[in-house]
Amino acid sequence: MKLTETDVLIIGASASGLMCAIEAGKRGRKVIVLDHANKAGKKILMSGGGRCNFTNYSIDAENYLSHNPHFCKSAISRYTQWDFIALVSDYNIPFHERQHGQLFCDDSSKDVLNMLLSECAAAGVEMRLSCDIVAVAHPTPDMFQVSTSKGDFSAASLVVATGGLSIPKMGATTFGYKLAEQFGHSVWPTTAGLVPFTVQPHDKAWLAELSGIAIDCVVSNERAGFRENILLTHRGLSGPAILQISSYWKAGETVEINLLPDLDVYEFLISQQQQRPNTLLKNCLSEHLPKRFITAFLSDEHIDTPLQELSKKQFKQITEKLNAWAFKPNSTEGYRTAEVTLGGVNCDELSSQTMESKKVNGLYFIGEVIDITGWLGGYNFQWSWSSGWCAGQVV
Ligand SMILES: Cc1cc2nc3c(=O)[nH]c(=O)nc-3n(C[C@H](O)[C@H](O)[C@H](O)COP(=O)(O)OP(=O)(O)OC[C@H]3O[C@@H](n4cnc5c(N)ncnc54)[C@H](O)[C@@H]3O)c2cc1C
Repeated sequence: MKLTETDVLIIGASASGLMCAIEAGKRGRKVIVLDHANKAGKKILMSGGGRCNFTNYSIDAENYLSHNPHFCKSAISRYTQWDFIALVSDYNIPFHERQHGQLFCDDSSKDVLNMLLSECAAAGVEMRLSCDIVAVAHPTPDMFQVSTSKGDFSAASLVVATGGLSIPKMGATTFGYKLAEQFGHSVWPTTAGLVPFTVQPHDKAWLAELSGIAIDCVVSNERAGFRENILLTHRGLSGPAILQISSYWKAGETVEINLLPDLDVYEFLISQQQQRPNTLLKNCLSEHLPKRFITAFLSDEHIDTPLQELSKKQFKQITEKLNAWAFKPNSTEGYRTAEVTLGGVNCDELSSQTMESKKVNGLYFIGEVIDITGWLGGYNFQWSWSSGWCAGQVV
């Protein structure tokens, strides 16, 4: 097989890999990016509902989960959201802010991908798509050799930018984790993050009937809490608040859902009982929540009873359900629909400045393959841009 020699080989032509390629190319390094997919940046294209939530006005280490909560700090402070916003602005890509500082393209995720591809072209980056990686060898301390379906490649720097496991049909593989282990790295166990919950069999029927209802809630557990919408679906519970807490959830646990975070339901019911004793419970509560939801959710809680016939104890029980619903998911929908993968290559074995392996010189890991997972809201792309940029300065 023909051997192509280059300075930098990057495996993975998506968010982190392209950013790294651009920066290395700008430094005059000869860069080749390999990807088994037939197109670069498929996840960028599908992100943010087709409008790519490419960063957030507020980026902080607290927005990331990792076994090493300090690791991300250096990269996100060196290549910031402002740097990426400046790049997007240079390309006159129209964008807008949604709630919580999230920045989305006005038109299409394609704008972000085309920008990255233009930058790659300008920096002389070469790309080999539909390229299956067969083996990676490290025959000498200063050279990696990658055998592929499109020939063999060698380089002094090898960058692994193969992402996580979510959406396998988009080309996600365990490649990066296996390669890390091949080179003596430890990998934290992976699970699906930012993913809808499936429900226990007894919750399935009533929830399915309410499919499509969205409610502004606080969803929390002992580790985190988020105020956003939850969305009832025919499969279970989704919506931003659920996706956020799913990253902090462990199998078998419950999460607490406050369906009326701005209302002390007990105080409200006591006052309503005095003011309008003949009002039915369901009519009273449906001023704050959809009636269909109240009827199904509180089916056994006297919803057709006038307030005057209900006791304080019953009010307490209703309050408990509405202000602190202890919801026990059956599971999550898994990698099939997850936005991200929790766990991954152990940060302690990488340089937080450069993403280089502390075990093997010239080997780098960037993006989602590392044990860094952002919240929903543009944090995952910012991690890809920041970590890719840092590696791009030194490879
Ligand atoms: C539906 C969805 C929507 C999302 N929306 C957002 C959003 O709006 N904002 C946000 O911040 N984040 C979002 N994310 C998360 C974000 O897409 C990822 O965190 C980000 O793409 C990670 O970038 P990466 O470069 O590390 O990996 P990826 O983007 O996953 O890219 C990995 C690349 O490696 C290639 N690859 C994998 N295995 C191999 C192999 N064995 N051989 C060769 N190539 C391989 C893949 O084909 C792919 O091109 C979303 C994710 C999903 C699934």
